[in-house]
Amino acid sequence: MTAQPIEQHRVLKTAIPGPRSQALQARKLASVSAGVSTGLPIYVERGAGGILVDADGNQLIDFGSGIAVTSVGNGAPRVIEAVQRQIADFTHTCFMVNPYEEYVEVCEKLNELTPGDHDKRTALFNSGAEAVENAVKVARHYTGKDGIVAFDHAYHGRTNLTLAMTAKNMPYKHKFGPFASELYRVPMAYPYRWPGGPQHCADEAFSYIIDQIHAQIGEENTAAVIIEPIQGEGGFIVPPAGFLKQLSEWCTANNILFIADEVQSGFCRSGDWFASDFEGIVPDLITTAKGIAGGMPLSAVTGRADIMDTIHPGGLGGTYGGNPVACAAALASIETMEEENLIQRARDIEAILKGRLEQLAAKYDEVGEIRGRGAMIAMELVTDRETKEPAAALTAAINKACHERGLVTLTCGTLGNVFRFLPPLSMGDDLLNEGLDILDEAFAASV
Ligand SMILES: *Cc1c(COP(=O)(O)O)cnc(C)c1O
Repeated sequence: MTAQPIEQHRVLKTAIPGPRSQALQARKLASVSAGVSTGLPIYVERGAGGILVDADGNQLIDFGSGIAVTSVGNGAPRVIEAVQRQIADFTHTCFMVNPYEEYVEVCEKLNELTPGDHDKRTALFNSGAEAVENAVKVARHYTGKDGIVAFDHAYHGRTNLTLAMTAKNMPYKHKFGPFASELYRVPMAYPYRWPGGPQHCADEAFSYIIDQIHAQIGEENTAAVIIEPIQGEGGFIVPPAGFLKQLSEWCTANNILFIADEVQSGFCRSGDWFASDFEGIVPDLITTAKGIAGGMPLSAVTGRADIMDTIHPGGLGGTYGGNPVACAAALASIETMEEENLIQRARDIEAILKGRLEQLAAKYDEVGEIRGRGAMIAMELVTDRETKEPAAALTAAINKACHERGLVTLTCGTLGNVFRFLPPLSMGDDLLNEGLDILDEAFAASV
């Protein structure tokens, strides 16, 4: 059954959210835990490419991809076909009970696509947090050490162990402790806000971090350093050139595993298969999820074969991990990325996004910095370019103005003052520019 095609442009039929969405939101408030909040409560009925159609018939432009998940776009034909075929064949066996080819094929693909041409092994899970948890388990088991080092502005998930690694209190951690132990935090190499200035950020951050690890944990007690090669929720912070390489080489020299959390930055999002590729780093372990399967829940840990195979049989797994329908969707998504050259498309989107955002920066002093790679671009807003005082209230106001105009935008940043743009990689130039025109209007209406 094929649904009606959805025109790739915005259509507003009611105020946003419209009456049917508002009625559904009333039911939501009476039935769903208040802890689960909704950023833009239009109730989605259909989606295709970069358009979401809500219960009132409005067509919204999607600059969020459900947080970097639908990189191939909603309703990607190969994904629909693969999911329908797999559902008709069988939906579940539990891979640990009775295996199937799709799981193995996803692992083969991950071993091939992730950085480095060494021998690798992969294990599949359901969510990004679950992948990160398992990477930590593997690192501790393999090294026989406990200490895990994470960074300021890090986001690694919402389970107890990953919350210990996530940096931001509100809303993620507040009153949910106590958290898992032997997790340590060091400063992030954040060029825009580095006290010694961006040109010194790489070297100063590196030496400060390794001094702290040495003094406060000890290399012989440190199992792994985990970092997002481009930080996601923390503000799309891109570490300065050379920093990740220096850090990963130091880890290797000290028998500490280097884990790249590419849950958000992976799968063509950054304009290459993985953000690690830009820095020429080869992580010991890499975690992936979001963009992997066109919206179906799937995540993975991929790593050096000697590390991954050190775990005893039965030590890794889970009932649903690597579900066959999710695996079929992942294979179809990867094929779409290859066949439609979405790496190049992410780079084209970067050029358009950065060009248009630079125009905003020329008009508005509140634009402090534009950064990011591929279709993972951020704009940090400040009240004053000299003091760099974060403009969180303005960010929220522009975000709201975008929503009211039918553009789905997301913010991020520990200080809540960063706009992030995560359009589907399949989005055409026209729709991208239509969305950016709406952003212009939202700025003009809010500043
Ligand atoms: C979203 C995210 C996670 C957590 O993924 P879930 O699927 O929400 O558990 C972990 N790490 C990074 C870098 C993320 O962006």
